[in-house]
Amino acid sequence: MNKTIIANWKLNLDHLEAIQLFQKLNYSLDNDIDKKIKIVVAPSFTSLRSIQTIIEADKLKLYLASQDVSEFVEGAYTGEVSVTQLEKLKISFCIVGHSERRQHFNETDESINLKVHNLINKKIVPVICFGESIEQRKSENYLDFLIEQVEKSIKGLRKDKVDEIIFAYEPVWAIGTGETPSLQDIVDVISNIKEFLSSKPFFDEENTKFIYGGRVTPDNSKEILNTKIVNGALVGGASLDVDKFIKIIESIE
Ligand code: PEP
Repeated sequence: MNKTIIANWKLNLDHLEAIQLFQKLNYSLDNDIDKKIKIVVAPSFTSLRSIQTIIEADKLKLYLASQDVSEFVEGAYTGEVSVTQLEKLKISFCIVGHSERRQHFNETDESINLKVHNLINKKIVPVICFGESIEQRKSENYLDFLIEQVEKSIKGLRKDKVDEIIFAYEPVWAIGTGETPSLQDIVDVISNIKEFLSSKPFFDEENTKFIYGGRVTPDNSKEILNTKIVNGALVGGASLDVDKFIKIIESIE
């Protein structure tokens, strides 16, 4: 089963700690871990270079993601990191539109759309997060809200440009909390988004993946990850604990 598991380390670990955790993860992974499972690590910007060096030197079958990228490509934008800089570091994936960025840094759908275009131009796979708050979930039209979020993030994408794109359904009320949606909730949302996207010119079954994020742990990963429509997981808290993270990966049958 083709699955992508992304470890979002968020604002944790300096670069030395990140190297340590990465090495521990690498040594703990079974050598013959299914080639169809892609394991991706998303550390802070300051750790990307160190980890990329290890991946390259040891020819590891692990991938790097950035947790964000600038909507600007270059110029007078102090504090920003561009797609060109990520490309040079051979970063394969980039998380965009994480709810924490939408909430704490006022990230807008328009800026997410610019980031997605810039990443696709550089062949870096965007991992586009979308999800509803608890208030939205309680309202009748939360699916319309989710579809609108997704629609705005992909505005203007053309088929000839898109090699791969990942959508991460992350209900805001489940991130970092004890709450998780039921499997049926996850399947319903992904099915609806998939149906919406199926009419888009860039979409095909091969290039578009759907993953789930929001309190994925070894207790619920088996059920979630062995569901056909779910192509993987975005894992926050549990990814900082190698034993838990390995258990999540090993739950894929
Ligand atoms: C996340 O950060 O994307 C996430 C899903 O976090 P957690 O697994 O801790 O809920």
